[in-house]
Amino acid sequence: VEPALDELKRRLGEIADLERIQSLLHWDLEVLMPPSGQDARAEQLSTLESILHDRRTHDRIGELVEQLEPYAKSLPHDSDDACLIRVTRRDWERERRVPTELASELEGAAAASYRTWVRAREESDFGAFRPSLERMLELRLRWVECFAPYDDPYDVLLDEHERGMRADRVREIFGTLVPELLALVNEHASDEEDDVPAGPFPIAAQEALSRELVERFGGTWDAFRLDPTVHPFMEELGLRDIRLTSHYRESDLTALFTAMHECGHGLVEFGVNPALDRTPLCEGASSALHESQSRLWENVVGRSLPFWRWFYPRVQQAFPDVLGSAPLDRFHRSVNRVRRSFIRADADEVTYGLHIVLRFELEQELVAGRLAVEDLPEAWNSRFAELLGLEVPDDRLGVLQDVHWASGLFGYFPTYQLGNVLSVQIAEKARESIPDLDARFERGEFSELHDWLRENLYSLGRKFTPAETIERVAGGPIDAQPYLAYLRGKLDTLAEA
Ligand code: ZN
Repeated sequence: VEPALDELKRRLGEIADLERIQSLLHWDLEVLMPPSGQDARAEQLSTLESILHDRRTHDRIGELVEQLEPYAKSLPHDSDDACLIRVTRRDWERERRVPTELASELEGAAAASYRTWVRAREESDFGAFRPSLERMLELRLRWVECFAPYDDPYDVLLDEHERGMRADRVREIFGTLVPELLALVNEHASDEEDDVPAGPFPIAAQEALSRELVERFGGTWDAFRLDPTVHPFMEELGLRDIRLTSHYRESDLTALFTAMHECGHGLVEFGVNPALDRTPLCEGASSALHESQSRLWENVVGRSLPFWRWFYPRVQQAFPDVLGSAPLDRFHRSVNRVRRSFIRADADEVTYGLHIVLRFELEQELVAGRLAVEDLPEAWNSRFAELLGLEVPDDRLGVLQDVHWASGLFGYFPTYQLGNVLSVQIAEKARESIPDLDARFERGEFSELHDWLRENLYSLGRKFTPAETIERVAGGPIDAQPYLAYLRGKLDTLAEA
């Protein structure tokens, strides 16, 4: 057993190193690289991707997991080695289904399509983007066919980001959410201007506050960085090398929520059991579970009243001219305001789900061939009016706003909303163990929550399937009800205040 296991771990360790190098190239591209480096960087990334694809699909990995099968079966289900062999086999079999030519065609087309999308969005010109989107959809459907037989092509797409999740299950969860979210929007949405001043909030002070939040939540500067970028993200370059990014604007304090969001993603990676380092288990279990943690820190903690009781005086101190005379309850209401708006990324907690449902419905139509790409803007605008009650004025504020489809990412959007739903389920479970959480937030104490999450979720990495992981941490499957109760409770309190 040992020589085979050693060889497997050596091969997987090299793949993990190459993946982190790839992440570093990407981080550098978004944070530091001069713009003219773009062409060289695209070549480097594509070279690295083809090396990685060869390594991940190498015959030898299949031989090794085959050889190790009896050993894996002799171990308990949750032992690190058994999980490693199980997950490696599954990844290997899945990646082998896709011919190398198709994988690299997708890669190349996505890069070109991304550039077309950037220009088309700037000019709000869907017609200029249409051929690229048609191409991405066609390639993605060819990719789906590699996984035949399947019941629903959308299941194949979901499975890539949320292993084991199925379209009919998402439909069921969203079916519970939609009428309730619509009712909440009808009751609580307001077009009133905020009665909190719109800045100016000097960026250096925003950055200092963001750093304080990352520290308080459990990030340490020997292992974390926080840098400015255009579209914020998190990259893990090593268990002790977590790169957070944020985007600052003088006119509002969105950056504070971005810092909490990206910090949540960073804590997931930072908390993986070091014994899993340099293996495919050394990352979050799924997209929805990852997002559940960014949202838990950003929303469940970061938009709560106890949190702001602690933090608001510091924010006031940083911007005395702007916020000195704005009381806490008014500020807290402004960061929880329900508002009908066009852009998903800026949406509040209630309308956000409706933005996702729209995309989920349209993706299914596209993938099933019931909706042609050329009819997409019209379908978007009419469904948007039904769900959010607004007429979309142009495609930049409509169908062209997100990068996902341009990059060939279909079936990803639902994981954002599943993450929102899970964030509340997981927070409630933590609250059962730490009943005085709110009192701790009011004192700026987050280490008990962080410890609980690390022990019960982050440390597991990708050892188990998403469903198994959710069962372990939340004590049951995904359930929309706690999330709806959380939203109702919050909005009722705000309305009374
Ligand atoms: Zn996120």
